[in-house]
Amino acid sequence: MREFVVLGTASQVPTRTRNHNGYLLRWDGEDFLFDPGEGTQRQMIHAGVTVSQITRICLTHVHGDHCYGLPGVLSRMALDKVNHPVHLHYPASGEDTVRALVSVASPGIDLRLHPHGGSEHGGPGHRFAEPIGQGLYVRALNHRIEAYGYRLVEPDARTLLPDRLAAAGIAGPDVGRLEREGSLGGVSLAEVSVPRPGQRFAFVMDTAPCQGAEELADGADLLVTECTFSDDDADLAAQFRHLTAGQAGELAASAGAGTLVLTHFSSRYGDVAPLAEQARSRAGGAAVVAANDLDRFAFPQRRAF
Ligand SMILES: [Zn+2]
Repeated sequence: MREFVVLGTASQVPTRTRNHNGYLLRWDGEDFLFDPGEGTQRQMIHAGVTVSQITRICLTHVHGDHCYGLPGVLSRMALDKVNHPVHLHYPASGEDTVRALVSVASPGIDLRLHPHGGSEHGGPGHRFAEPIGQGLYVRALNHRIEAYGYRLVEPDARTLLPDRLAAAGIAGPDVGRLEREGSLGGVSLAEVSVPRPGQRFAFVMDTAPCQGAEELADGADLLVTECTFSDDDADLAAQFRHLTAGQAGELAASAGAGTLVLTHFSSRYGDVAPLAEQARSRAGGAAVVAANDLDRFAFPQRRAF
């Protein structure tokens, strides 16, 4: 099962209708928790999801709206006796904040800290060389403090076609051999299968437009971006290094993204429909949705090559 669950959609200041950030990506039995702001534990209850399957927690940066929910979630995991390893990814420069947040959480879970940063993951010329977790990659963003976006990639593969296998007389253990070796008895894998492109998820939080955001978003089936400001407040966006709605749309268009989910709205906008419209007008072929708390997005259908 692959699903993106929105727990909160407010930026710095929550509102009556928008909790601080928080997002759960449910991905084949492993749950990734992104940027748990204040109240994330309770928002999970409202969303009907539990902490029990969280295997990775990913922080983009250590501003409070992206991490102050961490002690509550970790404590809840201890209370619920989560006994698998839980990996916490965060910028190395946020080490003091992360350790402080972790230190006030109830002990008892197998929490593994993975700071990342520097040229290894953010510098030029390091285009997704090594994942930091199972299919999980980071790229540097451009915010007021060190910040990273995340990208989850399923490897491309091929889907075998049973009728063509049968016609070629390949069955049983030979199927595995054909998959491993690429050809068998004059029959190539390509003849009996079709490409199955891996799905891609991208998570781009607080940033000015930058190369890292573009690389994360490239070809994403589901692209989640911050959308703090309206295009009318582009000067504020530039000053505080955030995206405007139109810039979020442009990112989706240049990336060829399938669906763009907008979130992290400034509390100054009671109605974000105009922001969605601004993004949509520049998003190319991407479907654009302004997220509300507790929205859920089934992962889009695989796209054909
Ligand atoms: Zn923020």
